[in-house]
Amino acid sequence: MSGERRRLLVVEDEEHLARGLKLNLELEGYEVDVASTAKEAGKRLLGPDAYDAIVLDVMLPDFDGFELCGRLRKAGNFTPVIMLTARSAAEDRVRGLEAGADDYMVKPFSLDELLARVRSVLRRRAWEQETAPAQRATRRLEFAGALVDFDRHEVTVRGEPRKLTQLELDLLRYFADNPRRVLSRSELLEKVWKLRGQGYSRTVDNFIVRLRRHFEEDPSKPRFFVSVRGAGYKFIPDGQGD
Ligand code: CA
Repeated sequence: MSGERRRLLVVEDEEHLARGLKLNLELEGYEVDVASTAKEAGKRLLGPDAYDAIVLDVMLPDFDGFELCGRLRKAGNFTPVIMLTARSAAEDRVRGLEAGADDYMVKPFSLDELLARVRSVLRRRAWEQETAPAQRATRRLEFAGALVDFDRHEVTVRGEPRKLTQLELDLLRYFADNPRRVLSRSELLEKVWKLRGQGYSRTVDNFIVRLRRHFEEDPSKPRFFVSVRGAGYKFIPDGQGD
């Protein structure tokens, strides 16, 4: 990590919670601003690199976090977003991810878990910024009727444009860099999420489900992102098993 302090934006209207988050994130060494409405957040986010990451509550007094996140992505701003919500409905999770959030936490959450996820998105961002596009192994990928341009953040599947989150793209690129190799959950967590340790393997599984939904014709019978029992996952670019 560079010597410069990382800047975070917390978007939360509940004053008590916003103050607690700001204090704890500052104790971790981050520079933290708080916005209490989506409009205020939008103003602070003018300029693509205003912040290194955003902690975004879904329930806001003007318009909600899904909409704010969607607007940012449409405007070409891919600052990592961790969404907070009081609701645990699967539908909300899907909405958040479709809006382009990188991660998602259900209130009440543990502070340690939030800090771990903030560190994770920042490590991935640092890696992206420090790795010049030309040095990245895979910049374009064609498989399963899909065309992926990693530099331009553009994906089409069977002619239809799809919106993938940065994390989905990072995971896809790691698979693309390692075709036909069995990748364990812990390797994926370390290389893609920049996380070590136990307790996150469900996260990997959830993201595999998302890649299958994006790319597989029948996500319940995956041909490209296949499970290897007891070992992890394997990417098969031509969809032909061994
Ligand atoms: Ca709120």
